[in-house]
Amino acid sequence: MEDGRLHCYLCPRHCHIGEGQHGFCFIRKNEHGRLLQLGYGRPAAVALDPIEKKPLNHFFPGSTILSMGTAGCNMGCFFCQNWDISKAKSDQVRSADLSPRDVVDLALQHRSPHLAFTYNEPTIWGEYVIDIAREAHAAGINTVMVSNGYITREAFFDIYRYIDAANIDLKAFTEKFYSKVTLTHLQPVLDTLRWLRHETGVWFEITNLIIPTLNDDDAEFKQLCDWVLENLGDDVPLHFTAFHPDFKLQDKPPTPPETLHRARRMAMQMGVKYVYEGNIYSDGANTICPGCKQVVIARSWHSVTSNQLKDGCCAKCGTRIAGVFTQKEAEQRREWANHLGAAMIS
Ligand code: SF4
Repeated sequence: MEDGRLHCYLCPRHCHIGEGQHGFCFIRKNEHGRLLQLGYGRPAAVALDPIEKKPLNHFFPGSTILSMGTAGCNMGCFFCQNWDISKAKSDQVRSADLSPRDVVDLALQHRSPHLAFTYNEPTIWGEYVIDIAREAHAAGINTVMVSNGYITREAFFDIYRYIDAANIDLKAFTEKFYSKVTLTHLQPVLDTLRWLRHETGVWFEITNLIIPTLNDDDAEFKQLCDWVLENLGDDVPLHFTAFHPDFKLQDKPPTPPETLHRARRMAMQMGVKYVYEGNIYSDGANTICPGCKQVVIARSWHSVTSNQLKDGCCAKCGTRIAGVFTQKEAEQRREWANHLGAAMIS
């Protein structure tokens, strides 16, 4: 900028960063006029998870995914459940030293067919995500973003053209919640969801964490479902998950299971085909066939206990279940996305 600050436009915060300062996310820094990304090669958390934990219930259900995150975040959620890394600077966390190739080798070593960028917001370490994802695809590994969806259109295509699946948090459906409880805005997240649906081949699912008194009334559930149905269609899986008190939001109780049941019932009655309950033990973890209403995939917490899918269809009635269940499908979507991404960027 004219005054010597750097303008970061990776996410809609559009930080103007002075010499020696960090952006809001802590891991992007102006050092002698260069915008550095301090999380590159330095994951603060690496683990093997069930893919249902992301949560993704329609992308290779029952598989394992090597998951990683760094320090920092571009949102300021008072209820963050990973605040020990998301609210830390990169030199305040213990981190590994892993090049993109090392990450992929780790996935291969643990026979993980997928890699997830998660735990903190991966958009803010987008350059590292892109380099890992390129290596992953070359090694036949699928890539997943678990994101708050707070990204600019300029950065969106640069990153998502290398991504196979995503789970996007839609934390509430009011600007009041976004501005007061996450210190961001709702509209950019809605934009990201629409770009994903209409301009990429990325398989994605949505998570809505329900917090008592802040985003748990019927009118808000209805507005959210209306928007999803109108803008994304009826086959984007929707996960309603339970809050537990954490970080700066200790004065709210855990979400009663009945609230999740109520939200799920309403969404299904409105026509959303795949609706789940998370962070509680319930039948709401099962995938129900929209044709015959029988359980196609049964789960207990994050484990698949039975899978009645046959070639992506319900074994009982033959209805096609939305999702990505074979590597061939994943590669077809990627090919299409690459083509589309190249067109968008040019
Ligand atoms: S990525 Fe970080 S530095 Fe860049 S605009 Fe967002 S919060 Fe600011």
